[in-house]
Amino acid sequence: MSDPFDSVKMKITRELRQPVKSGLILGTPAASRVICHNCGYARPIAEAVRYGKYRLCGECASRYELAKRRGTVRSIGEFVLD
Ligand SMILES: [Zn+2]
Repeated sequence: MSDPFDSVKMKITRELRQPVKSGLILGTPAASRVICHNCGYARPIAEAVRYGKYRLCGECASRYELAKRRGTVRSIGEFVLD
């Protein structure tokens, strides 16, 4: 199975190693963070929202809900790939 997000995720994880480390210092374990499929940032898992195979941070989730209500996107896949 090849998930197109896997390579992106690995790249992002490498780039985010520093911020995640500083998050550890601030008392936020890296394990409690997830990579948002839309913006690519590591966000606290508590704020993440799952849409099928995608996971969005709180901010992107609200943007998606808004876009859906406006009718600018029809599905989560469309939103993430846009
Ligand atoms: Zn996001």
